[in-house]
Amino acid sequence: MSEKVVVIGSGPAGIASALSASENSREVEIVTAESFMGYCRCFLPLLLTREVNPRDASIIDEKELMKRGIAIRKNTVVEEIDPGGKVIETSDGKIEFDRLIICPGSGEPHPAKIKGSDKDNVIRLYRYEDGLRLARMLKTAGSIAIIGSFFVGMEALLIAMKKYRVTLVDTSKNFRLLNFFLDDYIREPVISEITAQQNVEIRLGVSRDDMEIDDSFLIINGEKIRADIVIDATERYSGEGIKVAENAGIEIGKTGGIKVNGKMETSVEDVYSAGECTEYVNFLGYPQRSVTEPVAVKEGRIAGYNATGINMELEPLVIPNVIAYGNIQFGWTGIVPMGHAESLGIKTIVGKGEGYGLAKYMPSNYKTRCLLIFDSSTMRLIGGEVYGERDVKWRIDLLTMAIKKGLTAEDLVSLELGFMPAVAGRKDPIVISAEDAMNKM
Ligand SMILES: Cc1cc2nc3c(=O)[nH]c(=O)nc-3n(C[C@H](O)[C@H](O)[C@H](O)COP(=O)(O)OP(=O)(O)OC[C@H]3O[C@@H](n4cnc5c(N)ncnc54)[C@H](O)[C@@H]3O)c2cc1C
Repeated sequence: MSEKVVVIGSGPAGIASALSASENSREVEIVTAESFMGYCRCFLPLLLTREVNPRDASIIDEKELMKRGIAIRKNTVVEEIDPGGKVIETSDGKIEFDRLIICPGSGEPHPAKIKGSDKDNVIRLYRYEDGLRLARMLKTAGSIAIIGSFFVGMEALLIAMKKYRVTLVDTSKNFRLLNFFLDDYIREPVISEITAQQNVEIRLGVSRDDMEIDDSFLIINGEKIRADIVIDATERYSGEGIKVAENAGIEIGKTGGIKVNGKMETSVEDVYSAGECTEYVNFLGYPQRSVTEPVAVKEGRIAGYNATGINMELEPLVIPNVIAYGNIQFGWTGIVPMGHAESLGIKTIVGKGEGYGLAKYMPSNYKTRCLLIFDSSTMRLIGGEVYGERDVKWRIDLLTMAIKKGLTAEDLVSLELGFMPAVAGRKDPIVISAEDAMNKM
């Protein structure tokens, strides 16, 4: 194919789009606001371990992209799209395209609306350069304040508390992420583990007007709390790229994302979109946005292929999520928490269960919990939540596959699982929870 494919954005969706498009097109160009290429933001909180070097965080480097014939235009912001004229207007002039793939993510976050959020000790975790700056700041830091308890704030908290004195603050009265995705049964042990840490202070329900950032302090109601670094994890994403698409007449869905079909086609011919900026359907047919890297990569690959004439379709999404560092791990998949399913009009039966991760007599044994949500009319699994010290990821991944394949409580009761005392308990909490649900039928 000799048509020119232009990709907006160089996050995981943009890179995957360009790579798959380059397999079948001789002219592919990435236009990106970034100055570093080929990394994913997921590494940024891990810098708090002081064991990860930003320089090792690249997924694919610029030379490799160029070797595959992909042209790169860095530090360039796309300001307008003219789908009819097949041209984009950028901070560096016009660029023509035959096929366009829009992958701008959720956009750069705005600073927290808090007095002092422009101070030198404040950092947002978004760009590669933020990683370089954070790594430098960590050399002399002993205390960290985190503002915000959604994805970035909770990841940063779990990691930072292994090494630093940490204060987490939020205007919400609850841990936002935990409240949004988890039921009490899974949320409570996570909160007890966090609040039991001697070096962690949690301040929830603090009004924005009562917070101020000073050079080495976070001040709450006049009380000075030492904060060599303040992580602004308020996650107020700008959505700039989505606005550019909207201004071009591309349809935006109910969730605020660019509406795409399974081929990643937007409402406008020859314009595709992939990644965090998109709205697609979940396994029950409801519109959904994903904020995970694997979905961005998958969508990017499919967009790049379809834009260059190779037919490929994305399956409806389940979207597993895992937040884990050290021995505090939790995750969820599908429709969670219980109230979410009910708000969609789905009557549910919920199974809960706690089990051992290893054989009972193993000295390093630990307890792990599951909560499974079934559609009561079919007993099909529609959601799952897991907490434990270890192995949360494989349980969430297994539940994701179970949801995708339409498995029921009965199927999960008869799961075949491997066993050896050092790595598995006698009865997995997934099975215990499925049995609990069957008993409630
Ligand atoms: C701190 C942090 C930690 C995370 N950890 C995890 C994790 O552990 N696991 C996980 O699955 N996900 C994680 N995520 C989420 C994950 O990084 C995103 O879901 C993923 O990066 C989305 O990829 P994307 O390509 O859609 O968007 P992005 O990665 O946001 O990339 C968007 C790209 O578009 C560019 N752009 C935007 N607007 C324009 C414009 N107008 N013109 C030109 N270029 C533009 C941007 O500069 C950027 O290059 C994390 C996110 C953050 C911020």
